[in-house]
Amino acid sequence: MKRADRSDANRPHWRDWTWQMQQRIRDADGLARFVTPGADEKDAIELLSQRFRFVITPYYAALMDPDDPSCPVRRQVVPATAELQDAAGLADPLDEVQHSPVKNVIRVYPDRIAFCVNNECALTCRFCLRKRMLGEPEWSMKRRELETALDWIRRTPAIRDVLLTGGDPLVYSDAKLEWLLAELRAIPHVELIRLGSRLPVTLPFRVTDALCAMLERHHPLWLNTHFNHPKELTPEAAEACDKLTRAGIPLGNQSVLLRGINDSPEVMKQLCEGLVRLRVRPYYCYQAQRLEGTAHFRVPMERGIELFRQLRGRTSGFAIPQYVLDTPHGKVPLSHATWRGREGDDVVVETWDGHLWREPNPLEP
Ligand code: SF4
Repeated sequence: MKRADRSDANRPHWRDWTWQMQQRIRDADGLARFVTPGADEKDAIELLSQRFRFVITPYYAALMDPDDPSCPVRRQVVPATAELQDAAGLADPLDEVQHSPVKNVIRVYPDRIAFCVNNECALTCRFCLRKRMLGEPEWSMKRRELETALDWIRRTPAIRDVLLTGGDPLVYSDAKLEWLLAELRAIPHVELIRLGSRLPVTLPFRVTDALCAMLERHHPLWLNTHFNHPKELTPEAAEACDKLTRAGIPLGNQSVLLRGINDSPEVMKQLCEGLVRLRVRPYYCYQAQRLEGTAHFRVPMERGIELFRQLRGRTSGFAIPQYVLDTPHGKVPLSHATWRGREGDDVVVETWDGHLWREPNPLEP
């Protein structure tokens, strides 16, 4: 079979998600069909081949600038030698393994879990929090392991909210995902099922009419996706989001603050306003974790806080995601406190434009 290149984008098979999965780029030759690899990229592909391999869908590769290695799409998925220089990086910064009562079920909060149903994604993001798992046989989920996890959920009545993540649950076939959703729906205490999927961004053709019709049978379902840059807001991604919202699935976005990719107020504003136009609510923006091989992506938190302060008052309030640091103890919102203190019966807060507002608010009525 001919290997994928940019010319495939004009052919009917381009919109076939199974063709996209089969034709994923996994080596320098495949990458060279979409971009002119730079010297650093070529070295990194070689040096990182045994540590964190790269995989890219042809669709996502076609969004990359062919001549600019600093392209914000390209930097998210093409290896860089900077990944080898991160002495402080950890394999599992959130200590997820220690929070797993059974394989691939992560419980940080009493009432909800992240259930990593597989260790496969359409592509591999260089900053992936679960890079330790991706493609590693040790973390794949066989049917009996899924059954074990389902049994644990059945025996744990405190769990009312289940996030299906991975990897990516939409890599499953419709039939396998429907089986899993039906099993969860049959558990009386599971009120809410959430899907965590980046496929609307990296492989939007996965969002077929058949998939949406199946998902609609298992409400209430919510889906959080992961756009990081306005370049990812393509007509194809918009179509995928539209189909999901028409199937009654509320959409949220969880981005990661990435140095040189989206760490400016202008880019973040453009991203968030573009998401809102697609009816995707900017939900969280994560501080990049202290994850091995990602020091070059991390932004000082003061700068992140300032970035989001600058958005306040300059775009619709619901277009601003909450900037959070994930920790082994849960998420911590990061913000410039607007609280400026109490003066007698008054509370003083700072408005978006730096005004100190005094609000009467006696401690005792
Ligand atoms: S899509 Fe998400 S889970 Fe998959 S590689 Fe990227 S960050 Fe990791």
